[in-house]
Amino acid sequence: MTSEVIVVGSGAGGATVARELSRKIKGKILLLESGNRVNTKQAYTQYENYLSPPVEGPVHEDMPFWPGQGLEIARLTCVGGTTLVTAGTCVRKLEDELKKLGIDLSHEFESLEHELKVNNTPDWILGRGTKKILEACESLGYDVTPMPKFIDFSKCKSKLCGNCTLGCPENAKWNALEFLTEAEEHGLILQQNTRVDRVLIKNKRVVGVRANGRDIFSRAVVLAAGAIGTPLILRASGCEGEIGKNLFVNTYVTVGGIMNGVEFNKEVAMGLLINEQSDRKLMLAPHYARRIVKILTQRGLKVNEEDVIGIMVKIGDENQGEVKNDGTIVKYLTENDFINLSDGVQAASDILEEAGVNPSSIVCTNPRGAHPGGTARIGGFVRAPELETEIEGLYIADASLLPESTGGPPILTIMALAKRIARNMLDQQEV
Ligand SMILES: Cc1cc2nc3c(=O)[nH]c(=O)nc-3n(C[C@H](O)[C@H](O)[C@H](O)COP(=O)(O)OP(=O)(O)OC[C@H]3O[C@@H](n4cnc5c(N)ncnc54)[C@H](O)[C@@H]3O)c2cc1C
Repeated sequence: MTSEVIVVGSGAGGATVARELSRKIKGKILLLESGNRVNTKQAYTQYENYLSPPVEGPVHEDMPFWPGQGLEIARLTCVGGTTLVTAGTCVRKLEDELKKLGIDLSHEFESLEHELKVNNTPDWILGRGTKKILEACESLGYDVTPMPKFIDFSKCKSKLCGNCTLGCPENAKWNALEFLTEAEEHGLILQQNTRVDRVLIKNKRVVGVRANGRDIFSRAVVLAAGAIGTPLILRASGCEGEIGKNLFVNTYVTVGGIMNGVEFNKEVAMGLLINEQSDRKLMLAPHYARRIVKILTQRGLKVNEEDVIGIMVKIGDENQGEVKNDGTIVKYLTENDFINLSDGVQAASDILEEAGVNPSSIVCTNPRGAHPGGTARIGGFVRAPELETEIEGLYIADASLLPESTGGPPILTIMALAKRIARNMLDQQEV
């Protein structure tokens, strides 16, 4: 079997490339996806999280908590990838950093913001808990702005839902299935349950992929299997160097406590952005985590899901992690990460206390990551500004490309890069 282009992975990057290419070249694009199709309501069943093993001994000798803690990293394996469970938050990230590398994405950002109908979270959808946090921030002098989202809020049937990150029941939130449906209408062939093991390379030129044990040939291959899947494929294909290294995950924790009957668990996720006054990558936003209920229950407190309120603290972490050849992920907090996260935890605790949460009930989750990136980055395996690899006809179009941590929602930047790559491929008549 031979195609013009094989795209591997159907998440944020893969769906964007597939849609852009299939608009111009009909019936010649094959997309291979290891997961299967699920209804968006069932998206939460497709989580395939990783737990990086704990490091030996504390990373920082003064660490009061999380000593030697490995990180939990979330991603989804299904058609549409991790886009099915986003909080719908959509902001430009790394715009200036990419410009310095000669990549100006202003046009791509603008057209995506228009296509995804990005709009600010409206006031009417904010629930009691988020408003309490807003008032507390204002009284403590924090600058707070509505969070930009690719959610069509007119479709949110109720102010009290809280299912954004489990899979939107109303299809109000953009996800990659929208782009994939359009691409299929233009002739894209999407093959689910097909895991790509490696890329086939002959004389430094890509000739296809091996998937589910058989060879499929093509003129070009776009890897978009995510920042964990893509380096594994590249390493299995004999590509060396930096691949798999420089992993960041935008490490986050949720700080939470008890506010009886607040029903914060049913509110829109992360409706506000609490701006930190320094220039470091530290992001705070209202966030419900079921784990807070678990921690409080373990401490002997009687608490229901409706009684907990929280704030996410997210940092742009140092890219010292690695995806090893056997799929093991090594990722932990560095001293700087720890300091930044601790400052955020302190700020979040102050805001919660000001909002009326009893300080003795305030606890913090273990550190996690939901934005893995950087494992085949621009400036390393991928050349800047061309966005080409050293293998002719082989492209990367997912979070692996990101040159450094974004410290916040990366989807728009991943998609803008994917759009640019599709345009470059068409311009160079690679397809
Ligand atoms: C709970 C949660 C909430 C989030 N909320 C936001 C948000 O509000 N805003 C934001 O900007 N970002 C958010 N993110 C992050 C965002 O979803 C990811 O950064 C983004 O989807 C990554 O895009 P990607 O194309 O690199 O990978 P993915 O979207 O993960 O797609 C990779 C695809 O490749 C497939 N695949 C993997 N290996 C193979 C293989 N060997 N062969 C074939 N297919 C393979 C996978 O099944 C998957 O479909 C969130 C993440 C999580 C977990």
